Amino acid sequence: MSTVCQYSDNCPLFNSETSVPPALEKVLRSRYCHTGDVSCARYQVREALGSKLLPNDLLPTDHATAERLISRHS
Ligand code: SF4
Repeated sequence: MSTVCQYSDNCPLFNSETSVPPALEKVLRSRYCHTGDVSCARYQVREALGSKLLPNDLLPTDHATAERLISRHS
């Protein structure tokens, strides 16, 4: 069963300022956002720390940065 991520409609990663190329957005949305895969690094930081400490350009695959942020701020 697939579940769309609750942040999918307005995830800051995909706004015009972060400039994620359309091809990469398509891959990431297919892999993470449209499956509700909670291993997304953005999702993990958002859940642990809230939106204020979540960098707009953190990629779903950047688990090292996510772990650093979470350990630094929690
Ligand atoms: S990048 Fe992660 S947090 Fe953002 S919508 Fe996709 S799955 Fe959700």
